[in-house]
Amino acid sequence: MGMKRRDFIKTTAIGLAAPTTIFGGSKLKTNKNDPIILSTWDHGLPANDAGLISLQNGGNAMDAAEAGARIPEGDPKSTSVGFGGLPDEQGNVTLDACVMDSTGNAGSVAFIQNIKHPVSVARKVMEDTKHVMLVGEGARQFAVSQGFEEIDLLTNESKAAWEKWKKKRRKMTPHETHDTIAVLAQDNKGDLAGACTTSGWAYKMHGRVGDSPIIGAGLFVDNEVGCAGGTGLGEEVIKTAGSFLVVELMRQGYDPTKACEEALNRVIKKHNGNPDFQIAYIAIRKDGKIGSACIKWSFEYALARGEQNKLHKIKGLL
Ligand code: ASP
Repeated sequence: MGMKRRDFIKTTAIGLAAPTTIFGGSKLKTNKNDPIILSTWDHGLPANDAGLISLQNGGNAMDAAEAGARIPEGDPKSTSVGFGGLPDEQGNVTLDACVMDSTGNAGSVAFIQNIKHPVSVARKVMEDTKHVMLVGEGARQFAVSQGFEEIDLLTNESKAAWEKWKKKRRKMTPHETHDTIAVLAQDNKGDLAGACTTSGWAYKMHGRVGDSPIIGAGLFVDNEVGCAGGTGLGEEVIKTAGSFLVVELMRQGYDPTKACEEALNRVIKKHNGNPDFQIAYIAIRKDGKIGSACIKWSFEYALARGEQNKLHKIKGLL
């Protein structure tokens, strides 16, 4: 007698009952009652403060990550994120952002214009649509339909910088244009979430989208294992599925910093050991251990844990 479909599923499920063990075989404890907020660059400090306030007010990891990311988005002095971000080569500020929560849900907007808080639009995409990603004019229209205010994102300062650049159209070095904010959060239930938002590479081609709104590239969250976020040359992060890779390496048992390093080593190898650009990753593992690494020069991340919110500087692998 042939096997019935239901029996087959049962048998298969038993057959698969021992998947590759995460964390190299040893079960890690979930970090609880010790919330963490980890963000890229020094604008991570005020972002972390906002995230902590959100947690204190009963917010979860997703609320905290979003609240954090909104700070540089709204700050014209952060010229690589949101309002006041440096424009593309034609003078248009075009923004990319994404969020991912502890259930594995994700939302993203890319190439959105005239909206101050793309991270919150990304969250709306996640929560109120059937989709993961909206781009350009469609993303803007969706934001307006959700009550987001339209504003001119180009400040006088960023316009002046662009006009100066335009005279010579100097090639921006990747060292000069890499201040995306990724905010990773773990709340007091141990749940993980993240947000990532940027105006992207300064004076980029019109229409260029980087890694920051791409789930698995600029950000990835797996509530069983950990989460990771990236900053730096987005094209290279996309080509190596960077943040996803960091999380998968943690699943295989890599320590968070080692996972970030290994993901970067793949990029370094593809560039004959000598890339002339920066990428940095940050990661939180489910047990609360954090990690970070960057390719070269240095990188700063802001870590809020307990009463402390501090900037940490690390040196590049090269
Ligand atoms: N990752 C960003 C991008 O390529 C750049 C940055 O980190 O600022 O758009």
